[in-house]
Amino acid sequence: MRQRFDVIVAGAGASGLMAGIQAARHGAKVLILEHMDRAGKKILATGNGKCNFTNEKQGIAYYRGKNPAFVLPALEQFGLEETLRFFRELGVRPISKRDGYYYPASGQASSVLEVLLMECRRQKVSIAYEIGIRSIEKENQNFCFHTKQGNFYSRACIIATGGKAAKKTGSDGSGIPYIASFGHKLTDIVPALVQLQGKQSFFKEAAGIRAECCLKLYIEHEKIAEDLGELQLTELGVSGIPAFQVSRYAAYGLLEGKKVLVSMNFLPGFSREQAQELIQKQFLVYGEGKTAEEAMIGLFPRKLNLVFLKESQIQPEKPAVSCGNKELKGLSFLIQHLESEIIGTKGFDHAQVTAGGVETDEICPDTMESRLAPGLFFAGEVMDIDGMCGGYNLQWAWSSGAAAGKAAAGFAVDSTGRKNPGGFQEKKERGRT
Ligand SMILES: Cc1cc2nc3c(=O)[nH]c(=O)nc-3n(C[C@H](O)[C@H](O)[C@H](O)COP(=O)(O)OP(=O)(O)OC[C@H]3O[C@@H](n4cnc5c(N)ncnc54)[C@H](O)[C@@H]3O)c2cc1C
Repeated sequence: MRQRFDVIVAGAGASGLMAGIQAARHGAKVLILEHMDRAGKKILATGNGKCNFTNEKQGIAYYRGKNPAFVLPALEQFGLEETLRFFRELGVRPISKRDGYYYPASGQASSVLEVLLMECRRQKVSIAYEIGIRSIEKENQNFCFHTKQGNFYSRACIIATGGKAAKKTGSDGSGIPYIASFGHKLTDIVPALVQLQGKQSFFKEAAGIRAECCLKLYIEHEKIAEDLGELQLTELGVSGIPAFQVSRYAAYGLLEGKKVLVSMNFLPGFSREQAQELIQKQFLVYGEGKTAEEAMIGLFPRKLNLVFLKESQIQPEKPAVSCGNKELKGLSFLIQHLESEIIGTKGFDHAQVTAGGVETDEICPDTMESRLAPGLFFAGEVMDIDGMCGGYNLQWAWSSGAAAGKAAAGFAVDSTGRKNPGGFQEKKERGRT
């Protein structure tokens, strides 16, 4: 029995679920094929389990890739306002927190997944789990999904299989061969929003520290990116939002064999003179009867104070007031320029997203349709677009998924010449989905 659908979506992640819902809302009979035993596993991990699903601030500045402007038409069609309305109508009350980050009021990522799955059921979107797709081919007017469980046919196909980040959630790169089989090119892919591994030994001593920091990334001595926020120092290197934000550039630099370096400023609001003044006061005015280590108390976490003293070659037990001008200038310089060479990232398994993917110049930005294979669409992280921390990757999943779903339904309905979208297949063919 031929299992026919208007639209088949490969991948039941954030973008695939949104694409499926929108295609069904536009009259298509939809099947989503998922190789895991459940949908949206990654959604559950987002925002530390709270799901930062969009952001008040939107625009091209928050997206990366060869052509970040590619996101604009999809964001215009289904941006912040449409996303908030979509989730509100499904019952999720959005609340905005620090820096415009939006979360569900329940504080649970599972609410976002549950309402998506409820809407799939309401729209009669079928989801088939544990499906191993061997290949996707165009046969005459239809796409044929060859799977271990039999063949499935559709007029339009949406590939929403994600990248390679956090493999345990299902995105393992196994969607890439389907894309290549249609002649699409992929850019180099690297882990992004990921911890960076530093070369310097001080990371071991400072592991566990969190401190406000402006992190600058240099590639071959040229400043490429910077970010301000709470930096986390780990045994291996740097983590936390500032490290995540610059990590994609570091990963590409390393891929190209370039020298990558971070410079950390732990007094980001201070000019060089203000920093010197602060340290001099701390040591020479308030430092009477104190050691150098004691003079640093209250400035930074203790472990970090010890790193600063060690790196500027000041003995912690040295009397504070006996420190010379040169030493104190060196110390304040180091506090604002603690450097480390970057030798790696923590890899795809620990990354939140994949940078790189299907070349966007081969995709129509209004519809997410392939320029090479009519009826083939893309949604989400599988494309060469990655967002910054702050809800931008999910926003891209919602926006691109909505555009692809709507356009794929239009394509399928047009190509069958039906007046009754969604009704061309035989009911008995619904099968085990
Ligand atoms: C720990 C963590 C925290 C994050 N936090 C946030 C956050 O707070 N805010 C934010 O905006 N973004 C966050 N992200 C990023 C965000 O989750 C992703 O960018 C987004 O989920 C991508 O959606 P997608 O649908 O494109 O891909 P995915 O969510 O990866 O979904 C792809 C789906 O396709 C399936 N699949 C893959 N290959 C196949 C195949 N061959 N056959 C069938 N099915 C297949 C997978 O199993 C998966 O279900 C986070 C990511 C992680 C890992």
